[in-house]
Amino acid sequence: MADVQLIKSRLTAHPDFPKKGIVFLDIFPILRDPFVFETLITHFTQHITSHTIGLTETKKVDVIVGLDARGFLLGPIIALRLGAAFVPVRKAGKLPGQCISASYEKEYGMDSFEMQADAIKPGQTVVIIDDLIATGGSAKTAGELVAKQGGKTLEYLFIIELMFLKAASKLDAPVYSIVQSD
Ligand code: 5GP
Repeated sequence: MADVQLIKSRLTAHPDFPKKGIVFLDIFPILRDPFVFETLITHFTQHITSHTIGLTETKKVDVIVGLDARGFLLGPIIALRLGAAFVPVRKAGKLPGQCISASYEKEYGMDSFEMQADAIKPGQTVVIIDDLIATGGSAKTAGELVAKQGGKTLEYLFIIELMFLKAASKLDAPVYSIVQSD
């Protein structure tokens, strides 16, 4: 597909960032070009509304959940296009008011994510988005926060999926990624 090739062509690889041995894939060149950014957002919104994730004319997605931090650049735009709510998942201690939290294991020690306690109503349909899925730890934790509030995650969306880490098998809903990387 031409739009996938266009999006893929704008990803840049940065060896040894943020530390030695890691090749960091940068999505920001996509956002620098309004045509490519538009192509990306349209690709995601068409995917969500194409009925492949179980939505119909009457059953819509209620909430787009975006992950800290690059999920915040994609999620609100997609939510607005679909007439859905946007809800952020943030690293612990950043959100005001009552929050629910879930912990996940990082390379060194534990970290936790939070969501505002009244952000999702029981039974609401949810799509979770971030720029990239690696081990799946962040996405899994976000899914747990949605489930704790009684939400139903329909799908996890990413620009890039690192296939060799096999993260999709850890999640409670299917993964859709535009670019699959080894
Ligand atoms: P995971 O929890 O799946 O191991 O890691 C995914 C998280 O780390 C995402 O929030 C993602 O933004 C970030 N991340 C890890 N590696 C990369 C990378 O190479 N490029 C980008 N853009 N984000 C990354």
